[in-house]
Amino acid sequence: MLPIYLTYDSGVDEFEIRAIMIALIEFKKLRPRQKVTVHGSKPWSTGDYSSADWYIKSAKRIFREDLGRVQLDADSILTLLENEPWQAQQSHIDLFFTSYDLSLRGINFCFGIARGRNTVQSLYRFRRLCEDDREIAIKTLVWHELGHIFGLASDLSRSNTRDCCGSHCTNEGCAMCQGVSVKEWVMHAREVKKYGMIYCSQCMDDLRRARP
Ligand SMILES: [Zn+2]
Ligand SMILES: [Zn+2]
Repeated sequence: MLPIYLTYDSGVDEFEIRAIMIALIEFKKLRPRQKVTVHGSKPWSTGDYSSADWYIKSAKRIFREDLGRVQLDADSILTLLENEPWQAQQSHIDLFFTSYDLSLRGINFCFGIARGRNTVQSLYRFRRLCEDDREIAIKTLVWHELGHIFGLASDLSRSNTRDCCGSHCTNEGCAMCQGVSVKEWVMHAREVKKYGMIYCSQCMDDLRRARP
């Protein structure tokens, strides 16, 4: 079983780190043997690939005139994660968080994206929310992108999946359901909290079978 390496840039705050950690503790209850290593934002080596902030500095930047600020290109961060020199020595899942807004292939913005065994997630757009909503929005994002990594809701022949910005679950209350705006994501996160299970029974079947 591949370990999860948790990394976040130095702009990610204490509240966000706490919400991520709680989400991971709850996820581990479903997958008790899953190892998680926290690398955080402190440099772990020198030179290239030496800290989360190195990835941020090396990512492709897009200046959005309509927003008056910079977004980071999510694909370019995933490519950096895939090219990590030590992936070959110690295979792992990269769970990477940024305090910057993310964009993706012409899409206005994205909360997160998973590709292969890596995922990058932005906490930027949740910062305007009240604490309760912000916490559940972050936790649901962690579960959602980890779910993609473990292949959840990827079988489009099933009645509970559909293609909407990638393959997603249609069961409200399942973290693998999709939300494409902050408002939708908060509604989705509230449903997940109310349901109290993280994933629906079909997606749990996928997780039990997962062996990345
Ligand atoms: Zn998704
Ligand atoms: Zn589901």
